[in-house]
Amino acid sequence: MTLDWISPAQRLQKLPPYVFARLDELKARAREQGLDLIDLGMGNPDGPAPQPVIDAAIAALQNPNNHGYPPFEGTASFRRAITNWYQRCYDVALNPDSEALPLLGSKEGLAHLALTYLNPGDIVIVPSPAYPVHFRGPAIAGAQVHSLILKPENDWLIDLAAIPDEIAQAAKILYFNYPSNPTAATAPREFFEEIVAFARKYEILLVHDLCYAELAFDGYQPTSLLEIPGAKDIGVEFHTMSKTYNMAGWRVGFVVGNQHIIQGLRTLKTNLDYGIFSVLQAAAETALQLPDTYIHQVQKRYQSRRDFLIEGLAQLGWDIPKTKATMYLWLPCPTGLSSTDFALSVLQETGVVLTPGNAFGPGGEGYVRISLIAECDRLAEALKRLQKANIRYEKKGV
Ligand SMILES: *Cc1c(COP(=O)(O)O)cnc(C)c1O
Repeated sequence: MTLDWISPAQRLQKLPPYVFARLDELKARAREQGLDLIDLGMGNPDGPAPQPVIDAAIAALQNPNNHGYPPFEGTASFRRAITNWYQRCYDVALNPDSEALPLLGSKEGLAHLALTYLNPGDIVIVPSPAYPVHFRGPAIAGAQVHSLILKPENDWLIDLAAIPDEIAQAAKILYFNYPSNPTAATAPREFFEEIVAFARKYEILLVHDLCYAELAFDGYQPTSLLEIPGAKDIGVEFHTMSKTYNMAGWRVGFVVGNQHIIQGLRTLKTNLDYGIFSVLQAAAETALQLPDTYIHQVQKRYQSRRDFLIEGLAQLGWDIPKTKATMYLWLPCPTGLSSTDFALSVLQETGVVLTPGNAFGPGGEGYVRISLIAECDRLAEALKRLQKANIRYEKKGV
């Protein structure tokens, strides 16, 4: 029997096409053929969660008090660990009861924040390229997304002056993310000051995604939105345990900042979910209390992969500036090739999986993203295959 009498709601039909579908299909076919794929496409960190976190989870699992429904708003001790971590890292004081909320991963919270605050037709400003949920969440809510196309000559920073005044006047929310996925760009503190002034002037809710808070190199320390005076009046900031702590499958993140905004999100979530398994909150609490030496090891691991790959890519014609943060490199496609065509041909010819930049919105067209999610020996193998297939960066007229 065909279900031709039912189709997904309009809010799903309005979503931009899913660029990964064709790539997934080709990946599956290549695997069937026994090809050795080197998947540098995902943002899925390799390696286990830290041992003290695993130990804390096992101990918490032995306690039957953790087996029932968790508190809607998250456990008091995880919320305290979050606000203590903020105090330690950014010297920002937050109230654990009203200004911090645990999430089932930050992706969940970023999408639900859109459903909490956006009506159909509301205007949201989202840079392009961006982490997909920053525009897909608002699209599901029926909002109108005003894309700000980011440019390499502007170091992929948002040009606030380029936002038309009527859009700024009408916009309800602005999503942004530095250090950035997918471009790996970072923003100076002055940029954060400017965007806070902009949001206060136009009364726009600032939603900052700081999920690469600790994946920074060469001593660089990413800025928290909440370090900026006045930011808490108009903003919230999202974090994840997925990246730094190799806990992507555990589904734990959190949001901090303006208490009224967080209260709204909490109200929506109370109607949708029961929060995070208490065992995982106990483990996440442990992760936030790990000594800095753990963070330094993680940073060193990604930093050496970054150096290795940038050097190897230079020999293939790519001149990639040293990234200051994130687990990605952002490469221009050889001239004349679209993101999808280039990523598909690299996959077919070499078994190396890259993410086409247009998966992150129209502003990502002409680029691909490589994730630093394999050890250097695998990265060396990937480079060898690119070399053998004569895949190089060439500009027009060269
Ligand atoms: C990976 C990533 C997330 C997702 O985090 P989860 O907590 O695993 O849902 C959010 N934002 C950005 C920019 C990311 O790269």
